[in-house]
Amino acid sequence: MSTDNICVFIQQDDGKIAEVSLELVSKAKELAGELSTRSEGKKKVKVQGILIGDGIKNKAEEIISYGADEVFCVENKRLKHYTPIPYQKVMEEILRKHSPQIVLFGATTTGRDLGPRIASALKVGLTADCTDLRIGDHEIQDKVYTDILFQIRPAFGGNIIATIVSPEHKPQMATVREGVMKLNDQDPSLKGRVTMVEVKLDNGDFLTEIIKQVKEEKSVNLKASQIIVAGGMGVGTVENFKLIEEFAHVIGADVGASRAAVDAGFISKDHQVGQTGTTVRPKLYIACGISGAIQHRAGMDESGRIIAINDDPEAPIFQIAHYGIVGNLNEIIPQFIKSYKEKV
Ligand SMILES: Cc1cc2nc3c(=O)[nH]c(=O)nc-3n(C[C@H](O)[C@H](O)[C@H](O)COP(=O)(O)OP(=O)(O)OC[C@H]3O[C@@H](n4cnc5c(N)ncnc54)[C@H](O)[C@@H]3O)c2cc1C
Repeated sequence: MSTDNICVFIQQDDGKIAEVSLELVSKAKELAGELSTRSEGKKKVKVQGILIGDGIKNKAEEIISYGADEVFCVENKRLKHYTPIPYQKVMEEILRKHSPQIVLFGATTTGRDLGPRIASALKVGLTADCTDLRIGDHEIQDKVYTDILFQIRPAFGGNIIATIVSPEHKPQMATVREGVMKLNDQDPSLKGRVTMVEVKLDNGDFLTEIIKQVKEEKSVNLKASQIIVAGGMGVGTVENFKLIEEFAHVIGADVGASRAAVDAGFISKDHQVGQTGTTVRPKLYIACGISGAIQHRAGMDESGRIIAINDDPEAPIFQIAHYGIVGNLNEIIPQFIKSYKEKV
């Protein structure tokens, strides 16, 4: 029998909490509030974090300040870095003992590896790469399942948005894309419990050992960008993409791109916005020569203001743009740059 609680796997890398984990704690707090309201306050739904690593206990307060009611901490020198078998063992033991009704993972390389292992061990479902989570009721064959997790994600190449439910088995599990859930403001006055957990691990659990980590830093962190100038296939060539870079540089923006532009070699994948790229929420997004395919829009449609420059008045990007300019970007962008330089 599961509890009403919602559990989040807190990913740490070199002792730093992954932002997606804090986004999920923020979302879990919202879902917990929703579950509680729907039960007219009868259910007290707790948000629990599971934090595994070495020397990480002092990070628990940070997780609480984003809305966790309890953090289970597992400290062990051999758990400093993620390796599948020991992390699975620790997670499984905690989840079996505390039986939450929902478990969330960031859809990072680690979350995508760990989540399915645990779903398989617990014999429950898992929806990968969700872009939204809600609580609702589901009716099937005259049976109504109340207060279950709606796991929402693009499907069939992004052509439909599917709502997936696993009503029969708990916990309901999902991995969630980075950057799609809103991060709460940190509130240091929030209180929560830190529970140290001992899990017995033996040498047989450590079949792999990390000897050295080599990390390639991302050339851009679009998730944190306030202004993005993004170029698409309409830019035409690698050389012409310099116009996008110049425009971005002049107005103090970061450079984004559609997948078609990335595939054409105009710019590296780190700059790709969309379903299989980064999800961004800048204050201003300027889409240049981007048609506005659903897979692109999935990654930028929550931008504060969207300006679209496109020579096709029927381009779908205009459906979501706050300001649209129909015309040739090779003529319009230089005018933007000129007038901006004159004004500053
Ligand atoms: C599973 C899956 C995942 C995907 N993930 C992503 C993703 O993460 N991100 C993403 O972007 N796409 C993604 N795609 C691809 C997506 O479907 C589109 O193919 C892609 O977004 C198109 O890029 P584009 O708008 O740059 O190119 P196009 O669709 O070719 O559009 C180019 C636009 O530029 C305009 N144009 C041409 N010349 C000019 C000019 N001189 N001045 C002004 N406008 C001009 C044209 O009118 C046109 O609207 C994915 C697809 C699939 C199937």
